[in-house]
Amino acid sequence: MFDDLRDLYQEVIFDHNRNPRNFRIIENADRKVEGFNPLCGDRLTLYLQMEGDVIADASFQGSGCAISTASVSLMTEIVKGKTENEAEELFKKFHEMTTGKDENFNLEAIGKLAVLAGVREYPARVKCATLAWHTLDAALKNEQQAISTE
Ligand code: ZN
Repeated sequence: MFDDLRDLYQEVIFDHNRNPRNFRIIENADRKVEGFNPLCGDRLTLYLQMEGDVIADASFQGSGCAISTASVSLMTEIVKGKTENEAEELFKKFHEMTTGKDENFNLEAIGKLAVLAGVREYPARVKCATLAWHTLDAALKNEQQAISTE
C-alpha cells in the first residue's frame, strides 16, 4: 500500500473516532443488539430501524478503541438505505478483506470501508474491526442475545 494512501486511510479512521457518525439511540428501534470484544474491551449497542427489508436507520452507542469506533461509525453510514441482503454481502466482503485470505481482494469494490484494510496486518485488531459487523449480522437475523467475538 502506498504511504500517502495509508495516511489518508488513517486520517479517515481518526476522523470517525473523533466524531463518530450516528452515535445516538434510536427510540423504539426494531432491532437492538449488544456486541462485545473481550480481547480489547470494545462494547457497543447497535440499533436498527427497518422498513420492510431495508435498513432505514442505523445508530450505535458504546465505547471502544479507535478501530472499533471507526468501524461501527463507518458501518452505520454505509448500511443505511441498504437491503438486508446487500448488508450481508458487505459483511462478507468486509470479512474477506480484514482476514486477508484473498491476496487479490478488490478494495475498490468495498468503497469507503477499504480504510480498514490495514487491520489484516494486525491479527489482534481484526476483531475490533469486525465486531460491528458481527453485531449487525445478529441484528439482521433478529437474534436478541448479546454477541461476543470470543
Ligand atoms: Zn478494539
